Amino acid sequence: MDGTGPARTRRTGESEQLAAHVLGGGRVLSRGQRREPWHRDVQGGAARAAVFGISDGLVSNVSLILGFAGATPAPGVVRLAGIAGLLAGACSMAAGEYVSMRAQTELFERELSLEAAEIAADPAGEQQELADIYAGRGVGPTTARELARELSASPELALATHAREELGIDPEQLGSAWGAAGSSFVSFVVGAIVPLLPWFLLSGTAAVIGSVVLGAVAALAIGATLARFTGRSPVRSALRQLVVAVLAGAVTYAVGAVLGVTVT
Ligand SMILES: [Zn+2]
Repeated sequence: MDGTGPARTRRTGESEQLAAHVLGGGRVLSRGQRREPWHRDVQGGAARAAVFGISDGLVSNVSLILGFAGATPAPGVVRLAGIAGLLAGACSMAAGEYVSMRAQTELFERELSLEAAEIAADPAGEQQELADIYAGRGVGPTTARELARELSASPELALATHAREELGIDPEQLGSAWGAAGSSFVSFVVGAIVPLLPWFLLSGTAAVIGSVVLGAVAALAIGATLARFTGRSPVRSALRQLVVAVLAGAVTYAVGAVLGVTVT
C-alpha cells in the first residue's frame, strides 16, 4: 500500500457520507424553489404510477377471470383463480418495483460519491467545469463563472449542482424503494379486485356479466383519470382504455372457451 492509502480511504468515506446526505433529502436547492402551478408533474407522478398500477391489476385480472369463466368451471374455481392472480400480480409488481428502485438508487449513490470525491479532490477544476457547462448553454462567460462560484459555495451545494447539471440526477426526486413497492402492490390489488367482486355473490353468466360491467366501468374511470395527467380529451382516453380492457378480456375468454372444451 502506498502513502496515500489511508487519506484516500478517508476521503472516499467522506464522499459517501456527503452523497448519502444529498441523496437523503439534504435540501440544498429547493429553498425558495417554486414552480408555476399550471405545469403538470412530468417526472415524479406517484399518482400517475398508482393509476397505471390499478390499470395493470384490472386488465390482468379481467383477462384471467374471463379466461377461467370461458372454460365454465365452478364459480369457486374462478374465484380461486382470481384471488391467486391478484396476489401473484401484486407481489410481482411490488418485487419488480423494489428491485428496480434499489438498483437505480445504488447507481445514483455511486455516481454521486464519485462526483463528491472529485469535488473534494479538485474544487477549482470542478468549479471551472460548472462554468463551462453554463457557458456551453449560452450564459455569458462572466455570469457563468459567477454562477459556478456561487453554486460551489459549499460541498453540499456543489454536489447537488453537479448532480443536476452534469449527471442529470435530481437527488430529491429519488423515492424510497419500499414505498414504491408498497404502493404498486396496493394499486394492483385495487384494480384486480374489481372484476373479482361479482364472483363472491353470483355465479355463471350473471357473474361473467358482473365482471364485464364492473371492469368496463373501472376501465372508463381509469382512462378518464389518465387524461387528467396527459391533458388529453377524457372521453377519448376513457374509450381507449375500455377498448384495451375489452380486447384483453375477449381474447382470454375465447381462449378459455376453446381450451375448456378440449380439456374437459
Ligand atoms: Zn463535476
